[in-house]
Amino acid sequence: RFITLEGGEGVGKTTQLAALAEALRARGKTVVTTREPGGSEGAEAIRGLLLEGGEERWSAPAEALLFAAARTDHVDKVVRPALALGHWVLCDRFLDSSLAYQGGAGGLGIEEVRAINLFGIADCLPDRTLLLVHSHGAERALHRDGGASDRIGGRPASYHRAVEDAFRSIAASEPDRVRLIDASGSPAEVTDRLLAALEDLA
Ligand code: C5P
Ligand code: MG
Repeated sequence: RFITLEGGEGVGKTTQLAALAEALRARGKTVVTTREPGGSEGAEAIRGLLLEGGEERWSAPAEALLFAAARTDHVDKVVRPALALGHWVLCDRFLDSSLAYQGGAGGLGIEEVRAINLFGIADCLPDRTLLLVHSHGAERALHRDGGASDRIGGRPASYHRAVEDAFRSIAASEPDRVRLIDASGSPAEVTDRLLAALEDLA
């Protein structure tokens, strides 16, 4: 099974991914955890190009193509091989992040960004996507200490609001695949919500 975790900055994706992996392992699953941008040697190299270059390094379309190239390498080298072995793959961000950030907030268009990504990943799409959302939404992003690789300081609150809106519209258009998960409460409560949203997947 291919499961992706999505959401804006500071919503707890990375923490929850680790907790969810542990919970699934306790239920006897073999679980591979990975992340984007990155997750394979080539994709991590592209992540460096994307995050270290500064705001002006890439045009918006070039940046979207780099994300798509990184994703293609990650799918080919890590995700598909693990799925072929019958493992569960949990990925911190995937296609929907590109749709929301570059397509929605970045203005390239969700369908345009989907098209360049589908060229690379073809049928390797998540069985379920868990979208973590906070009731106070993108405002939270402004208060996060994001760390060295986080470009949050370079983007206005309006950008993060647009990301959140795009994520919600993607979720509304694909309710079977994408489940909205309330990210408030204790980490253990959130993990329980994530597990409940996977209940129907064998
Ligand atoms: O989730 P993570 O903190 O690893 O993301 C790293 C940075 O890349 C974040 O600042 C996020 O906003 C950005 N990002 C992006 N477009 C994507 C995925 C991540 O701008 N498609
Ligand atoms: Mg994270």
